[in-house]
Amino acid sequence: MTTEIAIIGAGIAGLSVASELAEHRGTGEGILVLEAERDVAMHTSSRSAQQLIPSYGPEPVLELTRWSIARLLEAGSDLAAPLAWPSPFVVAGSPEDVAAMTVPGLKEISGGELFELCPELRGNPQRFRTAAVDESAVRTDATALVAWHRERALAAGVEIRTNSRVTNVRRAGDLWELTLDAAPQETVRAATVVNAAGAWADEVGALFGAVPQGLQPLRRTAALVSLAEPMPPEHPMVDDAAEDWYYRPDAAGAMISLGEAEPSEPCDAQPHEGAVAGLIATIERETSLRITGVVKAWTGLRTERPSDVPVCGWDPVAAGMFWLAGQGGYGFQTSAALARAAAELVLRGEVGDWLSPATRDALAPDGSPDQSATPR
Ligand SMILES: Cc1cc2nc3c(=O)[nH]c(=O)nc-3n(C[C@H](O)[C@H](O)[C@H](O)COP(=O)(O)OP(=O)(O)OC[C@H]3O[C@@H](n4cnc5c(N)ncnc54)[C@H](O)[C@@H]3O)c2cc1C
Repeated sequence: MTTEIAIIGAGIAGLSVASELAEHRGTGEGILVLEAERDVAMHTSSRSAQQLIPSYGPEPVLELTRWSIARLLEAGSDLAAPLAWPSPFVVAGSPEDVAAMTVPGLKEISGGELFELCPELRGNPQRFRTAAVDESAVRTDATALVAWHRERALAAGVEIRTNSRVTNVRRAGDLWELTLDAAPQETVRAATVVNAAGAWADEVGALFGAVPQGLQPLRRTAALVSLAEPMPPEHPMVDDAAEDWYYRPDAAGAMISLGEAEPSEPCDAQPHEGAVAGLIATIERETSLRITGVVKAWTGLRTERPSDVPVCGWDPVAAGMFWLAGQGGYGFQTSAALARAAAELVLRGEVGDWLSPATRDALAPDGSPDQSATPR
């Protein structure tokens, strides 16, 4: 079959750009999303902490995050349940470590104020001498957000095919011909292909002969645990400035993680043996939280570019292949802005001035002088 735009990958990146493209074009017809797995969002997009933090990340990420939060709050106001809601973020530690972990302008609080807010840290006054609070951080429900994009895309006429891994690519005149690992084996032709393949994006790019973006998947393990003493739902997410372990309240009790970043091949990552026990031991050693059980534990891959800024733009050599990858630990918090930037670049060749020139440049694929000069 032939389609106008094929999108490889149905995580938050692929589905959000599908729904945004459909909205900008006035129809989703001619857009086909190809997902390798039996369902959408089975990899990193179902394994996150679901937090959107406007003070977390390099400057281009902060701008994308501010825009995305505003968009999700506004879009959610028309829905039965919000897409995002307030969920403050606290970085705690020594003054030096806290300053190194945060952006200027956040509310600073003393150790005493921190212990009022987070009594579970009280036993460690030498370590937690100060904190910075980001009161503009929000939480999302990743499953609901993915479903919202999926439903908007489907309602507009986008086709989403699961069990359809792209295994081979060749040039067929002005089009790309994608071979699918589906039964029966099939090919799809498209002039424009969006590479939103998450941890696999560089491997997929190689099928097109695209310029490698140095994308590195990094493992991170997390768990939902039950607690002896429940944390109130309004309790902030807490991040340790020195070692990066974190926790936040959850309906189950708490979500906890060591915040590690261990290089990996693209794969269906699973926790190492003993990792969850080690994680629980750290949280119990450093806080007075008492963990009574593990509801669920998982490992996900955060895939980063060397610059720590996502890549969103046309590949400089593989004409018609568009990168939307390298979101690292920011894939949800930047999703709305990245989807809009990607849709504008795909359809109009440029991003509007709602995004600063510096951020537009930072998103450009490596190997290209700038977005507007990139040949299609
Ligand atoms: C523990 C953890 C905590 C996190 N916390 C946060 C957070 O609080 N806030 C935040 O913003 N971000 C967070 N992140 C990061 C966020 O989850 C990711 O940035 C985001 O999910 C990436 O989405 P994606 O769509 O690019 O990738 P994925 O969800 O992995 O989607 C890529 C899809 O491409 C498909 N695919 C790959 N190759 C092919 C192929 N050849 N053919 C067809 N399909 C293919 C895959 O099957 C997959 O479904 C966290 C990540 C982890 C691991």
